[in-house]
Amino acid sequence: MKSRLVAVVLGVGFVLGADLSLLRVDARSLNDGAKPAEAAASRSNLFHGPRAGGLREEVDPKYKKRFDEWKNEFLSTDIGKTQWEMYARHSHLMLTITVAPDNKRGAGSGNYKWNDAGELVSATIVLGTRIDEGYPNSIYYPVMNALAPYESARLLSRNVLAATKIAHELGHVMRIAATPEPLYRLQVKLVPVYNKIFLSNGHNVNDPRLVELAKQMGGNPVQIWEDREYWGEANAMLYLRDRVAKESFHCRIFNKIKRTVEEFAKPYEERFTEIAKSQGVNYSCSWK
Ligand SMILES: [Zn+2]
Repeated sequence: MKSRLVAVVLGVGFVLGADLSLLRVDARSLNDGAKPAEAAASRSNLFHGPRAGGLREEVDPKYKKRFDEWKNEFLSTDIGKTQWEMYARHSHLMLTITVAPDNKRGAGSGNYKWNDAGELVSATIVLGTRIDEGYPNSIYYPVMNALAPYESARLLSRNVLAATKIAHELGHVMRIAATPEPLYRLQVKLVPVYNKIFLSNGHNVNDPRLVELAKQMGGNPVQIWEDREYWGEANAMLYLRDRVAKESFHCRIFNKIKRTVEEFAKPYEERFTEIAKSQGVNYSCSWK
């Protein structure tokens, strides 16, 4: 755990750069206003009365063709269609999805905003311009990483990798929607405080100040961070479950995910096991 904490705090060892900077993105998002959601709400009011939620695609025309391919790949599954429609018809959450070149192979979520009733009303997913390339490490991304050999063997297209990354980001948004705003804000505030002490005390996680901070925010920074990543991966697995259901290699791919989760993400195994269990009668994989 300590070496993971060092890696997370120092920002090394991860392939999905945007995911790594999630806590920073999130911190920045606290300063952003609600302008997009409000603008959309007022537009929506013109036609449908007061309804602020929905799914808005803000994609530059030069990325539109590839975005549509990734999206259609995601929508080719039942779970993809269900989740997309849930956000498109959402009563109060305005989810914006955009494509930007800053972190080509990665993606990130942020711009979270809650209303007075404690409901998440605004979120933004930023997809890199080449999310159909690049397999993040197996330690934190056991689902996305498992796809690598299938693309090189041409059994799955690169669009499947892109759609898996979309599912991962939607998993983040779902989780944040279930996180109380005060806890989220507390984490954003205390994580930098924790990191500063950690870097100056010889990486001593038993420092009483750090123990107290971790208690307050529900875990140390790496626990908070990896919990979020594994929720993203759980949703990625849900998409993949539907996507490869009829493929001859579906057991091989899920057994690989199982082995990786057991090796690196044992405390989080249950959320993956739940999905594996829901695979249905057609499955005979060892993950039961
Ligand atoms: Zn992530």
